[in-house]
Amino acid sequence: MSAPDPTPDARDLTLTDEAATARLARRVAERTQGGDVIALGGDLGAGKTTFARAFVSALPRPDGTEAREEVPSPTFTLVQTYDRAPAPVWHVDLYRLEDPEEVLELGLEEAVIDSIVLIEWPERMGPYLPHDRLDIVFEIGGDGEARHVRLRAGPAWRDRLTGIVADA
Ligand code: ADP
Ligand code: MG
Repeated sequence: MSAPDPTPDARDLTLTDEAATARLARRVAERTQGGDVIALGGDLGAGKTTFARAFVSALPRPDGTEAREEVPSPTFTLVQTYDRAPAPVWHVDLYRLEDPEEVLELGLEEAVIDSIVLIEWPERMGPYLPHDRLDIVFEIGGDGEARHVRLRAGPAWRDRLTGIVADA
């Protein structure tokens, strides 16, 4: 049960458990392409890394084989990269970033051109956060397992939003 759509480019969903979060991640992964930016918002423990893990695991390697490596949280490394198709994936966690200027050292400006970039704590990028992106903001629901998410689609994502939220 979702609230009415706040705008045509935004949708609210309830994810009843971790499996539902993983299914959402797979639906986004099926529709992703190089140059995509996916900003994962929400507090600690809200489900951002859980989403990113399922997303990275859903994509095949460039040679078409199934990827099986671990997808650790990049809380300390800030960035983990994965060789994937249709494009390399950058999983970025900016929790420990103290100044938006520090993102310039991470090479993100280059990555957003043709890689797929997932960003936890995107607000830490300040003015460097790319404008055309998919925002997914996670909120912890009452029972501890449910997550309320709001998706907001930038221009590059508008045509994909309906498919992403279908049968959620
Ligand atoms: P974040 O990266 O936002 O800090 P994590 O994904 O690391 O959060 O942690 C989320 C925690 O909540 C995990 O322990 C996960 O098992 C648990 N969890 C429970 N229900 C859900 C859900 N519906 N979606 C995502 N994670 C969930
Ligand atoms: Mg995290």
